[in-house]
Amino acid sequence: MNIARVALDLPLHRLFDYLIDGLGPAEPGLRIRVPFGRSEKIGIIVSLPGHSDLAPEQLKPALEILADTPPLPPDFFQLCEFASSYYQAALGEVLLQALPPGLKKASPAKRRNTKAKAAGKGVEPGPPRLTAEQERVLAAVNHSSGYAPFLLHGVTGSGKTEVYLRLITAALERGQQALLLVPEINLTPQLEARIRQRFPSVPTAILHSELAEAAREREWKAAFLGQARIIVGTRLAIFTPLPELGLIVVDEEHDASYKQQDGMRYSARDLAIYRASLGKLPIVLGSATPSLESWAHAQTGRYTLLSLEERAVSAARLPAIHLVDTRRMALSEGVSPALQDAIRKRLEAKEQSLIFLNRRGYAPVLGCTACGWVSRCQRCAANMVVHLKDQRLRCHHCGFELRIPRACPTCGNQDIHPFGRGTQRLEAWLTETFPTARILRVDRDSAKSKKQWEALLQQIHDGSGAERVDILVGTQMLAKGHDFPRLTLVGAVGADAALFAADWRAPERLFAQLMQVAGRAGRAELPGEVIIQTEYPEHPLYAALRAHDYPSYAATLLTERRQAGFPPYTFQAMLRAEAPQMADAIDFLKAAVALILPENHPEVLLYDPVPMRLSRLWSLERAQLLVESASRPSLQAFLATWREGLETIKSPSRLRWHLEVDPLEF
Ligand code: ADP
Ligand code: ZN
Ligand code: ZN
Repeated sequence: MNIARVALDLPLHRLFDYLIDGLGPAEPGLRIRVPFGRSEKIGIIVSLPGHSDLAPEQLKPALEILADTPPLPPDFFQLCEFASSYYQAALGEVLLQALPPGLKKASPAKRRNTKAKAAGKGVEPGPPRLTAEQERVLAAVNHSSGYAPFLLHGVTGSGKTEVYLRLITAALERGQQALLLVPEINLTPQLEARIRQRFPSVPTAILHSELAEAAREREWKAAFLGQARIIVGTRLAIFTPLPELGLIVVDEEHDASYKQQDGMRYSARDLAIYRASLGKLPIVLGSATPSLESWAHAQTGRYTLLSLEERAVSAARLPAIHLVDTRRMALSEGVSPALQDAIRKRLEAKEQSLIFLNRRGYAPVLGCTACGWVSRCQRCAANMVVHLKDQRLRCHHCGFELRIPRACPTCGNQDIHPFGRGTQRLEAWLTETFPTARILRVDRDSAKSKKQWEALLQQIHDGSGAERVDILVGTQMLAKGHDFPRLTLVGAVGADAALFAADWRAPERLFAQLMQVAGRAGRAELPGEVIIQTEYPEHPLYAALRAHDYPSYAATLLTERRQAGFPPYTFQAMLRAEAPQMADAIDFLKAAVALILPENHPEVLLYDPVPMRLSRLWSLERAQLLVESASRPSLQAFLATWREGLETIKSPSRLRWHLEVDPLEF
């Protein structure tokens, strides 16, 4: 009697045994089609145990062993097992979320045979000669052996991407595959283009969640079969089995989109580190503003710190950063006279300006001054944002929309107003103020798809004459990794809002955002200028920004974190519950606390259950409970036992809960 032990995509921390007699050769790592309940599922064979704990008559026969791909390799299992135990997720869920959707279907669509595409045509412009700094970085990584984690801290425009390309070249020459993780592929078409240009004949796989199912399967297989030699992907790509992996690069490693926000809430950057240690590989985490977690590791020597302190283009300098104190100043639509003058000068010189306001829509809320009504979302504890362009009120959390009412829904007053300012409002004002300028707004409303975004980028780059773009206004979409050679002015308005936000990570994020967006200015021969409007010009964040001094600001923040006992000096997990009634969510969390005797876990601290900041989303009330420990192993051990207990708590049927390890948002 032959038995396969199978992982299925279920939130259950167990495996399932099936009979496989007569189904042909079985191997761990092959997919298998099995009956489950009244339907069928695709699972992964984890092992072939000689016997089962179940009686033979309780075992069901499997239906088919799928051998259209080679078995998933042992290091794939090791990575998934690590993720499963670290993030308290069921192994079956981890293993199956790692596969492209097409390979998990019980009745698959017709599969075409596939070959990795060559990266594409294009004229190789001849790589630039590396700067001395770049040479040093390259040598350090290329001369490393075994597991070697590097943090590459390079100021914006210092040529980090060029270093990645050279590292990839070296890996290819060694006959290895290279994995390049990027935050959001839609935001970085330039990077994809640079890779295709540099490696026109190297098969390259691109992996991200927006790919159509067939394309995703094709790219994944090309990578898994070793046909693709360069793999560029977003966080999910970290799970791709790669038989000859020789290098991992994580670009913009500080970026929050490396964190998965539902299902298993993993950090692809952290898993990349584990994967590099598992495969005994070099890994490079790159950023102009590293996460404090990575920076702390670089300080203790756990990661080797490599720095690029100068811009790579020899004539390019870091932009001069000016603060404009707006406390006693008459602003028009939030814009200071100094910033207006600076924009005017750029228009005269036919250079580009970028105005950064990290809030999309026309205004964050519509309100009635007569009765105090505001445009709340019916489903969420949040305001609906005014979108004047399409005459909608829209909730940015759940997507609920309404037409903008003509009069106040409660008192009938016709005099209702948008309060506050978003990119659309700024755009409208700029259009009025600079009527001859060509203005382009870039945010998630104007660039919904990858195609739209590419079209916008194209305009920004090569528009000339009547087509040229003079003023860009937009959100952080504009901050990420772009190279706009004619851009010489960056203005930031409304940045202060994040300075005193309730989330203690907000300053770290604000600093990174401003540094990144400032880094768009003056990347080529034309010198850049950055104007930041603020009511807190003395704030240390702005002082460090003016000095382009990430290390000193990071040191300040790390000292604060150490004193306050925050990560990275403590380790956290969050238990969250949501239910139609807040009381049910809180009760669940209280029951979770009651599961344990504090004296059994002296190294772990449980806080009181509290409503989340966004306390209602999609008509569900949400509460959370923070767990903390100074020791990672203690926290891990605690979570493993606690999770088993959580599964036994009786709760209303519409209550959902999840555990998040290393939460980023509160
Ligand atoms: P980063 O990724 O650090 O922001 P990039 O790699 O995009 O920087 O480089 C910024 C600019 O400098 C790009 O236009 C790039 O082509 C150019 N560049 C990079 N390295 C060199 C070099 N060694 N010599 C000349 N130009 C370079
Ligand atoms: Zn009213
Ligand atoms: Zn909503």
